[in-house]
Amino acid sequence: MTVRTRFAPSPTGYLHVGGARTALFCWLFARKHGGQFILRVEDTDEARNTEEARQAIFDGLNWLGLDWDEGPDVGGDCGPYYQSQRAEIYDRYFQKLLDSGRVYESDGAWRFRFERCPVTVHDLVCGDVTIDYTDKSNTPDMVVRRSDGSYVFHFVNVVDDLEMKITHVIRGEDHLMNTPKHLQLIDALGAVAPAYAHIPLIQNENGSKMSKRDLGAAVADYPAQGYLPVALVNFLALLGWSSKTTEEIFSMEELVQRFSLEAVNRAPARFDAEKCSWFNQQHIMKMSDADFSLACEPFVRAAELPVPANFIEIAASIKEKVRLLTEVPSALAFLLVDDFSYEEETVAKVKSNAATAGLLDALVLHLKMISAWSAESAKEAVAAAATANGAKAGQLMFPLRVALSGKHGGPDLAVILTILGKDRVVERVEKFVKLLA
Ligand code: GLU
Repeated sequence: MTVRTRFAPSPTGYLHVGGARTALFCWLFARKHGGQFILRVEDTDEARNTEEARQAIFDGLNWLGLDWDEGPDVGGDCGPYYQSQRAEIYDRYFQKLLDSGRVYESDGAWRFRFERCPVTVHDLVCGDVTIDYTDKSNTPDMVVRRSDGSYVFHFVNVVDDLEMKITHVIRGEDHLMNTPKHLQLIDALGAVAPAYAHIPLIQNENGSKMSKRDLGAAVADYPAQGYLPVALVNFLALLGWSSKTTEEIFSMEELVQRFSLEAVNRAPARFDAEKCSWFNQQHIMKMSDADFSLACEPFVRAAELPVPANFIEIAASIKEKVRLLTEVPSALAFLLVDDFSYEEETVAKVKSNAATAGLLDALVLHLKMISAWSAESAKEAVAAAATANGAKAGQLMFPLRVALSGKHGGPDLAVILTILGKDRVVERVEKFVKLLA
């Protein structure tokens, strides 16, 4: 049996991390089992659907790399993949319920006659969950078709899962209590139910339920905030799923290999924004220099900084230093332009040692004498200037870093010296000496 999973968003709001995680689990499970991942748009709520929301969902899935095998844009044998275009299919299934006497009219609407017995869902994550339908007053027959002829969510959702031959319904825990209803409908239609896996809700750090308005909730915000898609995927995967090892950093391929529904936790998952940016940093460090520079480029251009021919080398100098790509322009500016700014506190710290300006002056003379420029020859000049003035080389390293970058931290000094080259190094030290005066 080929595994078939589906993500069934309602295009009434943007794609939030909870929805993205559901889509991810469906996708991972299908990929792991060599199956198919289907995208179905549950757009029956005409009043609340918007085209922007639909587009945002597709964009978010595409950005995350969650490609669908069947669905809008790609087609497939079980289409159309918009519920709004599937009225004939629903009518056909409704007729089956009519023919078997399972629906009846009441106040213009059509109600589904529940089987009066307990119904148990054998959930792959939550275990057995039973709703007892014996008492009609607690569990009145449910409306499946409204008086205006439209069908309710439960009905169309079930019909589509059957028609689309879904084998595993993986969705948020908020749907767990709907599932006995769905089993009743499936049974009445004489069909076989898919397997169900309801995944735990996502909570904020303070334990409250994460809502669409919470910070970090919208997937669409992540690209501009400097996140890599693979980092968000890795972070989302571990919101509810456990690798059962101490390892945490996984590529898409590794997640596909390792994912299993058995290792999805029953307890709610906590959303930790700090942890999310930590994942980003880890994935940045794993990138090749070339890929990292490509990822940085748009951020650097947006900050109106130049992208020179040796940009790969320049970007690589801070690959280990940034958590988010948004930090890149300010971290790199001093390597891209000459009119960078100096950190005030750092300059004050350099100034506090009265001997430094003299040492830097001496350094300029030694630097100018270098004929074959390299980080090593520059460092030799630093040592020579220091000893000639009764100081240690170490005393000059920090002032030199500040002279060249304006910052107290940043790339390795040798890398800075190499990238800037002799002329710019000399100019910057001369300029800095004036600034200290
Ligand atoms: N449209 C439903 C939702 O977004 C789908 C639920 C399901 O996955 O079955 O909540």
